Amino acid sequence: MAINIILAGPRGRMGSAAVKMVENESDFKLVACIDRKHSGKQLKDIEGQPSLPVPIYEDIEKCFQEVNADVFIDLTVPEVGYYHTKTAIEHHIRPVVGTTGFTDGQIGEIAQLAEGENTGCIIAPNFAIGAVLMMKFSEMAGKYFSDVEIIEKHHDRKLDAPSGTAKKTAELIMKTREPKKQGHPDEQETISGARGAEMDGMHIHSLRLPGLVAHQEVIFGSSGQTLTIKHDSLNRGSFMEGIKLSVHKVMDMKELAYGLENIL
Ligand code: NAP
Repeated sequence: MAINIILAGPRGRMGSAAVKMVENESDFKLVACIDRKHSGKQLKDIEGQPSLPVPIYEDIEKCFQEVNADVFIDLTVPEVGYYHTKTAIEHHIRPVVGTTGFTDGQIGEIAQLAEGENTGCIIAPNFAIGAVLMMKFSEMAGKYFSDVEIIEKHHDRKLDAPSGTAKKTAELIMKTREPKKQGHPDEQETISGARGAEMDGMHIHSLRLPGLVAHQEVIFGSSGQTLTIKHDSLNRGSFMEGIKLSVHKVMDMKELAYGLENIL
């Protein structure tokens, strides 16, 4: 039986790659899209989209009431993505969320709602399997290195900084690393922000440049050595295997999994 999918953000960079992925999977069926600019049309009416008679809605409530779906994929922006995710859970349509920038409080609320509604949900700041391994290796290294700086690099259309992946990496390192305020105790920024953002004494630096996709280096240092763990997403195809896997996995889940590593 095909898994029926509703996708929000079909014209975006991630969304258009996901539409193609869903179209090419024999056991997935795209049954509707959420798009604020093309409500009432079909996907085939939009330039650059596959020739599919898939209805487009602006109003997500109306969409969930009229269309029978198993999974909801969100690839939009955090403000609307948060509302979409909660609404999907309330309708028992399992969300697979790639949208980044949710606050810890929002993730906590979604976790509670998913558990209460007995509905699976996956939120992954990074769907690239290599990026998940980079985070896992960083967590392992954190036990042996208290000094670490994270450098994340993305295209200049990205709205949130630091990236969800950088925050998640820092959270994983915090599980194993001895807490430490890094750098010289008397260090001073002569230009504000020079040392980047700080999480538990670690520093996170965000670069935004046209031409980049999604890249991260985690650099550990101790006496006489550095260790660099690096991952590059060269195109958005790198995220599609993780989304595909999540759509399958979420079908058998009854609660939130935050991070792809929790379902691998
Ligand atoms: P994008 O190209 O800017 O696409 C965003 C899409 O969201 C567009 O189709 C946009 O449509 C739509 N949108 C924006 N505001 C909306 C609203 N209020 N209501 C409905 N739709 C709205 O961005 P992207 O590069 O595809 O990234 C999408 C999200 O995925 C971002 O949060 C990004 O950080 C995240 N991301 C996640 C991963 C991962 O592995 N988890 C990887 C890469 C990116 P309009 O044209 O109408 O604005």
